[in-house]
Amino acid sequence: MADDRARRPAGRSRGARGRKLDEYRDKRDFDRTTEPAGTPAPAGESPGAEGARRFVVQRHRARRLHYDLRLEVDGTLASWAVPKGPTLDPKVRSLAVHVEDHPIEYADFEGVIPEGEYGGGDVIVWDRGTWSPSDTDDPAAAIAAGELHFDVTSEKLAGRFVLVRTDRDRSQREQWLLLHKNDDHARPGWDPEDHPRSVKSGRTNDEVAAAPTPCGAATCPPPTRRLRSVLQRDGGTRHPTTSWPPSTRSARADGGSCRAGR
Ligand code: MN
Repeated sequence: MADDRARRPAGRSRGARGRKLDEYRDKRDFDRTTEPAGTPAPAGESPGAEGARRFVVQRHRARRLHYDLRLEVDGTLASWAVPKGPTLDPKVRSLAVHVEDHPIEYADFEGVIPEGEYGGGDVIVWDRGTWSPSDTDDPAAAIAAGELHFDVTSEKLAGRFVLVRTDRDRSQREQWLLLHKNDDHARPGWDPEDHPRSVKSGRTNDEVAAAPTPCGAATCPPPTRRLRSVLQRDGGTRHPTTSWPPSTRSARADGGSCRAGR
C-alpha cells in the first residue's frame, strides 16, 4: 500500500510542482478571484525546517457548504472536500471527495470568491496546524495507493485520522472516507458546526461575506514581498497599518489577513 512505488504519480521531481497545479489554475480566472495563483517554492523549501507539514481546513460556503481539508505534500496542498466536515467523533465516517491540489499559499486564503467563478462563495480558515503521516514516509505514494493514516496537531482538531479511497462518483472524482481513530483525542458527538469561527481572524463565514477584508482599502497594504518581510521581521506581530474591527476579539496577530482577504 504505502510503499507501492509503481503507483506513484508521474513527475515527483521538484519541477513537477507547477504541473501539479495545472488543474487548479485551469479552473480559475485570477483576474476575477482573489485566490492565490501559487508561486514556485524555492527548491527544498518544504516541508518546513523541522519537517512540519502544513494542515488546514477551510469552511467554504459555495453552492453547497463543505469543509476543504488540505495536507501539505511535496510542495502543494493535497485536498479533499468534506461536505459534513471533519469530526473528532470516532463513530463518524465522512465522505471526502478528492479534489485538485492547491498551492501552499492557499492555506492562508480567507475571503470571498466572486459569484459565477469556480467555487464562488465565502471561505474562512476554519482550522490550521501541522500534520505527519503515521505509517509511511512517503505520503504521496500512500495517497496514490488510496489510504493515508495521519496525526494532526491543530487548533480545533487533534489525533489520528484515516483517509481511505472507496469509489469514484459519476464525474470520476475519487470518493474517500475520512474518519478519526478512537484515541485519546476522540470526542463522541463532536460537531464541527459547533465551532464556526475562523482561527485566523475570529470571524464567521457570514462576517467574511459581509466584509471580505478586515481592513479598509486605505489601510490594507498590497501583498508585496516587502510587507511579508516586514511581517516576518516583526516576528509575526501585527502590521501597524492594518486594523481589525472591534468584533474580532480573538483575531490572531498574524497580520496576514489583508493579504488573503484581497
Ligand atoms: Mn471548496
